[in-house]
Amino acid sequence: RSREKNKGVLVIGLGRFGSSLSLELVNYGWEVLAVDTSSRRVQHFADSLTHTVVADATDEEALRQIGAEQFTRAVVAIGTHLEESILTTSLLVDLGVDLIWAKATSRRHGRILEQVGAHRVVLPEHDMGERVAHLMSGRVLDYVEIEEGFSLIKTPTPRRLQGVSLSESGIRKEFGITVVSVKHSGHPFTYATQQTVLDSGDLIVVAGRTKDVERFAELS
Ligand code: ADP
Repeated sequence: RSREKNKGVLVIGLGRFGSSLSLELVNYGWEVLAVDTSSRRVQHFADSLTHTVVADATDEEALRQIGAEQFTRAVVAIGTHLEESILTTSLLVDLGVDLIWAKATSRRHGRILEQVGAHRVVLPEHDMGERVAHLMSGRVLDYVEIEEGFSLIKTPTPRRLQGVSLSESGIRKEFGITVVSVKHSGHPFTYATQQTVLDSGDLIVVAGRTKDVERFAELS
């Protein structure tokens, strides 16, 4: 058998998460082999994805037949069927897939997936719930937590920053934050410099400790 590794992505489960992920991967030029037990799901995506197969990923023989062990990357996108999700992840670990991402529906589910050997666990509902909480104020237009306690946010330019250059504003000293990107109205986002002067219609991307960026965003 060829020892050549497959450079594509194996996606198990074409539910809402798995199908969005697969379509986006194909959009970005990846080869995707998507697997689902439901022939209806598979048929639905057959035209838009590179390769689709009807198979049960908890069946080791079926996984071998589709060449799962040759993939360097796999995503287990089975959420609600706990047992299937855990068993599939553990089989992919045994087959030696180098990088396994798995979707969990709860922290406990996530912990089990890590214990059986998933390399990266995502909790989409949990993460989105948290994100939306940070968007509630209306001043934070977008929010990404880079790691615990450190975030990037998109926000309108507070009055405090308008009409002076970023270096003159003293904003980093005062708030401990960094303005990293700027979108002058009618233009795309670009990098910020010491000399950047902001106007009232501008949007900015700010990096810093979550507490600090949120305190900063609440200025208006
Ligand atoms: P979502 O919340 O993203 O819609 P679901 O858990 O509802 O996720 O969907 C998971 C998908 O995974 C379903 O389409 C289901 O048919 C598929 N699936 C479940 N078990 C297996 C399995 N053992 N092998 C392959 N696909 C599976």
